[in-house]
Amino acid sequence: MAGLYIHIPFCHSKCSYCDFFSTPDRRRVDELLDTLVREFEMRRGEIEEDFETVYIGGGTPSIIPAEKLQRLCSRLPIGRAKEFTIEVNPEDVDVEAVSAWREIGVNRVSMGIQSFDDQELAAINRRHDSRRATEAIECLRRCGIDNISCDLIYGLPGQDMDSWQNSLEKLLSYKLPHMSAYCLSYEPGTALYARMTAGKITPTDDETLERMYGMLCDKTAEAGYEHYEISNFALPDMRSRHNSSYWTSSPYLGLGPGAHSFDGRVRRYNPSNLRAYIDGFPATIIDEENETERLNDKLITALRTADGLDLKELTQAQARRLKEETQGFIADGSMSLTPAGRLRISERAWFTSDAILRELIEV
Ligand code: SF4
Repeated sequence: MAGLYIHIPFCHSKCSYCDFFSTPDRRRVDELLDTLVREFEMRRGEIEEDFETVYIGGGTPSIIPAEKLQRLCSRLPIGRAKEFTIEVNPEDVDVEAVSAWREIGVNRVSMGIQSFDDQELAAINRRHDSRRATEAIECLRRCGIDNISCDLIYGLPGQDMDSWQNSLEKLLSYKLPHMSAYCLSYEPGTALYARMTAGKITPTDDETLERMYGMLCDKTAEAGYEHYEISNFALPDMRSRHNSSYWTSSPYLGLGPGAHSFDGRVRRYNPSNLRAYIDGFPATIIDEENETERLNDKLITALRTADGLDLKELTQAQARRLKEETQGFIADGSMSLTPAGRLRISERAWFTSDAILRELIEV
């Protein structure tokens, strides 16, 4: 069973840390929605159409008026999806919008809260405040959406251990089925990066970030969450099915600017540019991976998960090489190899997993 991803690249404004492709200019919404349907019609043969999961991401899909979203979904075969997620921001959540999302089949909402501290939210140019985030969670539940995932960020400007603990404990108090937590990164080209290079803000030091990560692992475990991917936590049986399919190399079809697809063999991606996507249609690029690139993809995705990498999926030569190259990491406890042949990075070592992956990736 496959997944369907639909990318909506519009946002109300730009968050200062964000380097995703998004635009506040919504003049071409209708053209985008028509092009998404055209793209689906053209590419529907690439993948089994019985979509088990649907994910409308962005950008901020909740920015799209409900009737336009309904019209888009009525033109796509998404009726049988077991998990249908939409990404939203708190400022767009009200009874009318949630009712409309439910009507099109949405049964899971992923919401970007990032922090419950209003000064931290203002520092990264988020449009909502803590009160609005709280109201949005309550509204979703009142309207019958219980499968909610919320995002937090640690390492925000002005954030210390106490305020991180407050945000984390506040989110955990809702006992949501799922949450994600990301370490802030300063990406070139973002407003945050410019402020850092101008000396106006100092990034959180590595030691504090590691303590924040440690607190995240401890508190989510105490609250009964499974840390099943480097940034993702779920109550029992509530992992994100859609995102899990990326990490297990299952097939998915991605529609829209910047969307990626994988049919089980070949990867494809669309240009991360609205004009190129609409005016240059069809502009999907085929990424012909060689064996080394395929292995590297597997390493990067599977070793981010608690399930790890099944060495039986590799050739004998690849498995042998990895066993040799991970001996040191296994000896110091940052990796493990299960009797069933699954290679894993340990939870605490995920924080520095980039360094481990650099050693294992073939160039
Ligand atoms: S809402 Fe999300 S996609 Fe849009 S600018 Fe903010 S972080 Fe980026």
